[in-house]
Amino acid sequence: MTLALIGSAAYDTIETPVARRERVPGGSGVYAATAASFFTKTLLTGVVGEDWQDRETSFLKSKGIDTAGLEIRKDAKTLFWSGRYFDNMNQRETLEIELNVMGLEYHPVVPESFKDAPFIFLANGGPAIQNEFRRQFHAPKLVVADTMDFYINTKQFREELLVLLKTIDGLIINDGEAHLLTGESNCIAAGKKVLEMGPKFVIIKKGEHGALYISTEETAVIPAFPLDQVEDPTGAGDSFAGGFMGYLAQKGACDFASIKEALAYGTVMGSFCIQGFSLERFAQLTRPEIDQRFAQLRKMVIF
Ligand code: AMP
Repeated sequence: MTLALIGSAAYDTIETPVARRERVPGGSGVYAATAASFFTKTLLTGVVGEDWQDRETSFLKSKGIDTAGLEIRKDAKTLFWSGRYFDNMNQRETLEIELNVMGLEYHPVVPESFKDAPFIFLANGGPAIQNEFRRQFHAPKLVVADTMDFYINTKQFREELLVLLKTIDGLIINDGEAHLLTGESNCIAAGKKVLEMGPKFVIIKKGEHGALYISTEETAVIPAFPLDQVEDPTGAGDSFAGGFMGYLAQKGACDFASIKEALAYGTVMGSFCIQGFSLERFAQLTRPEIDQRFAQLRKMVIF
């Protein structure tokens, strides 16, 4: 089944303890759509500026992604984000963010042919825009959103986010964001508080310590895939979400057993993402490699 998603498309400058790359393609929507494209037909919606190169759109198309919802503004520049990772690669600081086109008024338009899409993912972006996108679908089966500290901490965005939370089925956030949103430092307690805010389930990502799924009925945990070398952690969370949603859309299901498989596929996609800068690893990746790593992960956790 089809997955329709909205998110950012950006140019990133990234510094890790081993290397530095300038103005490489990134953004929550781009990572999520690329990861999802290995599983199902995916629509990417978002907005970029006149500096967005054709080769980035060509790459997305080469993965089978429908870019009809990607608007190019001639009067503005693409979102620019720059970050530096510390020695253990678990922590980073944002050095610079230029919202550019993301700071302008924007109304996402879902192409008519996608309005019946059953699976919807709202990758990191303004919550009011996420909501405007979601409202254009006729009868979605599953709507899941991601958010970040920037939107949780800013008063206006936070209010919009609380409205959005009442309309979605699932929220994917990291442990720091769960703490910011709920005031709880314990992940289980934070997860339960998120459920009181509206979503039927929440997934809390904990970087190299895996992820936690909590709904009113069920709890699940998944470890991260163990890797001894990380190139660039940027986009791991978005790729996790793209793999998770892409797999559910491919299967056309969202029962608990499918959700646990999707958590494992999300983990696998996050692990491939961080093995290269930007989208480099995804450019070479094949579905058999994904399934092979999924089988390795399954073997590690079954006892
Ligand atoms: P992650 O590493 O999963 O947290 O995602 C990193 C991506 O988020 C980078 O490629 C950035 O371009 C993008 N990003 C940074 N700031 C924002 C923002 N305010 N809204 C949406 N995307 C952003």
